[in-house]
Amino acid sequence: MKKIQMVDLKGQYEKIKTTVDQSILEVLDSTAYINGPKVHEFQSNLENYLGVKHVIPCANGTDALQIAMMGLGLKPGDEVITADFTFAATVEVIALLQLTPVLVDVDEKNFNIDIEAIKKAITPKTKAIVPVHLFGQCANMEAIMEIAQEHNLYVIEDNAQAIGATYTYSNGEKAKVGTIGHVASTSFFPSKNLGCYGDGGAIFTNDDDLAHTIRGIVNHGMYERYHHDVVGVNSRLDSVQAAVLNAKLPNLDTYNSARIKAANAYDKAFEGQEKIVTPHRDGAEDNHVFHQYTLRVLDTDRDALVKHLNENGIPCGVYYPIPLHLQKAYKDSRYNEADFKVTNQLVKEVISLPMHTELDDEQISFITNTVINFINNN
Ligand SMILES: *Cc1c(COP(=O)(O)O)cnc(C)c1O
Repeated sequence: MKKIQMVDLKGQYEKIKTTVDQSILEVLDSTAYINGPKVHEFQSNLENYLGVKHVIPCANGTDALQIAMMGLGLKPGDEVITADFTFAATVEVIALLQLTPVLVDVDEKNFNIDIEAIKKAITPKTKAIVPVHLFGQCANMEAIMEIAQEHNLYVIEDNAQAIGATYTYSNGEKAKVGTIGHVASTSFFPSKNLGCYGDGGAIFTNDDDLAHTIRGIVNHGMYERYHHDVVGVNSRLDSVQAAVLNAKLPNLDTYNSARIKAANAYDKAFEGQEKIVTPHRDGAEDNHVFHQYTLRVLDTDRDALVKHLNENGIPCGVYYPIPLHLQKAYKDSRYNEADFKVTNQLVKEVISLPMHTELDDEQISFITNTVINFINNN
């Protein structure tokens, strides 16, 4: 059996090496290292793939979130509602911009921001909602957009984990995740579903004015050379990374299908296991592109399971072990523990198994057998 990895970047690279290497060499030959043709080509390819009017590439997914919020003109003291159960980047940029993060609980089934909790958290100061499409599954965008419209709020989709997923509206219409809110951010960190070979990110929007504002912000607030109209940042997607992404984008659907196929195989193997809750999926199969395959293990010492898997050569992850509202940097006396029942429980039960495009049946059987044996004998 091939050595099991949490993410097999090497195995994936070997299959596309010729195309990727060629694309990178073109950058080296052209010496167009900054904002070169590869960046523009990727931007336009991604716009076409997503069906969105504007993609603005930038340096990483955290910058993308920050720049999206700057572009919307959010002001210190504005309240921004986001999920308590996510990677810290989401709340970090809210705090960094001196906006007020308002963390709310998630849904116990799909782990995404809870709709009732959003409603409860809205105050006259609320200006935006940031749903995170956690682990690759689209949040309940229809309900979120409805709340936003009713209260005149912006919606910023954190799409770092779900690029390529498709949301199906209740009327059957479909849209790519990240094209539904007013603006969205994504990350091309190597382990993401569309990863480059370093850092990278992008902002998406269908709003022409917002796109214009954001294009200036990523470039030192310049709309005309050496005229700085607003305070901006320097956040660029590197041409070499754009070359990698251009080579990989045509494979994104195949990659996501491989992840879904692995998730299906995991689900099947865990069928009937009473102590294992496999990932819930909302609606259509393409709504969840499995950035992570995350189980809840009940009546089990989760940390002992992690240790047991590691001892058997199976890497795994705990995303996320601590709720954001309990992190030192994001504590707030306004929070009430009773409002975070789901997150407080999930942090004790979740475990993410190896998930990538190169997993094979033999590896999946070994992983699932090891999990099942441990859970039923401890
Ligand atoms: C990865 C990630 C980010 C940050 O992306 P970087 O490119 O690492 O800055 C933000 N939000 C979520 C939910 C992520 O998973």
